[in-house]
Amino acid sequence: MPAIQIDPYETTDGLFECVDCGHRETAATHPGACPECDGEVRNIAISRE
Ligand SMILES: [Zn+2]
Repeated sequence: MPAIQIDPYETTDGLFECVDCGHRETAATHPGACPECDGEVRNIAISRE
C-alpha cells in the first residue's frame, strides 16, 4: 500500500494548551508562548505508542 498518503484528519500538528489561561491552539511547531497571556504553552496532543 502507498506509504505516502497524507490524510488531513491524521495531522501531525500538535495541540498546545496554555498552562496559565487554558488557551488552546494547534500548530505544527511549538508556539513558544501563549498569544493570549504570554504564559507557558505545552503540547497536550503528543501521540506516542
Ligand atoms: Zn495563556
